[in-house]
Amino acid sequence: MIERKISRFGVFFLIFLLPLCALAQKGEKIQTVVIDAGHGGKDTGALGKLTNEKTLNLAVALKLGAYIEENLPDVKVIYTRKTDKFIELSERAAIANRNNADVFISIHCNSTETPNSASGAETFVMGESKNEKNLAVAKKENAAILLEDNTDAYNNFDPNSTEAYILFSLSQSLYQTQSLDLAGKVQQQFASKGRHDRGVQQAGFLVLWKTAMPSILVELGFINHAKEEQFLNSEKGQTQMALALYRAFEEYKREFEAENHTAQPEVEEKPAAPSGTYFTVQFASRDKKVADTGKAFNGVKEVDVYEYNGAFRYVSGKFTSKDAATKRQTEVRNLGYKDAFIVAFVNGERGTIKQAEEALKK
Ligand SMILES: [Zn+2]
Repeated sequence: MIERKISRFGVFFLIFLLPLCALAQKGEKIQTVVIDAGHGGKDTGALGKLTNEKTLNLAVALKLGAYIEENLPDVKVIYTRKTDKFIELSERAAIANRNNADVFISIHCNSTETPNSASGAETFVMGESKNEKNLAVAKKENAAILLEDNTDAYNNFDPNSTEAYILFSLSQSLYQTQSLDLAGKVQQQFASKGRHDRGVQQAGFLVLWKTAMPSILVELGFINHAKEEQFLNSEKGQTQMALALYRAFEEYKREFEAENHTAQPEVEEKPAAPSGTYFTVQFASRDKKVADTGKAFNGVKEVDVYEYNGAFRYVSGKFTSKDAATKRQTEVRNLGYKDAFIVAFVNGERGTIKQAEEALKK
């Protein structure tokens, strides 16, 4: 019995893992991103009352691409589709591989069996699904191959078989750390926009399976949740989600390139603006005030505290440029606070990064 299992694993290893092992290392810069609007054409994806998934996915994908093209001219944006067109899952990954993309972002919307029973945004990377919910999301998204004429590319994978997923999800590792990093940034951005944060998740997605680069699949929200559909169907909602994705991508690119020692201009640390408009790095949150912040926080510099939503939030430094705050964020993360993130204050009040940037420009 064990032998049979091993040999079955061997077969799966050859089919699923080997293609990934043979792939070349990525370069030092993020130069190409593939944006994948989920579904299209005869595959509508999940259905809402006002619209369908393929339409929302495309709207956000096009906006995201436009933001990148406008603000990061050194990045080439490639779309798997720019119109309402059916494209096989395997072809979506192939587009990314053919173009030697550095990042792959697949955009989707979630749905539940019972309308209005769940809400929020979550971001997936390829991996083992830890619970039924995640498995259900993967099954639903992978079911798109049932509409494809030729499914040879998937080695007879049955998108409805739970067993198939167990071995399939082992093909996760090569770019998983980077994918998780990007996924974390996406969720952080969504949360900062007030979206219900369902976190970073893992499951086996056929569209991510063969991509040879850091890859994520974003579920923007639940299309069969009335409020969320209304939000996602609105210009404002689509802009907000696309901007959040853009910011996460931009941050990922910046950090990736800094870590790879490509020429980055030295960041000058200017003193904090007297107006109380600045960036700082939040790294801890406590119910009770910490007495000795010097000892308590592993040597994090310039610790300050403020109260927000009923808890004491600990921050480090005050900066008038986001780049300087990013530098501090890296330092703080290296001291063990892996989730440290940048927050902005505008005239002494918590604000958005954008508001602070605009206020500091004046
Ligand atoms: Zn979908």
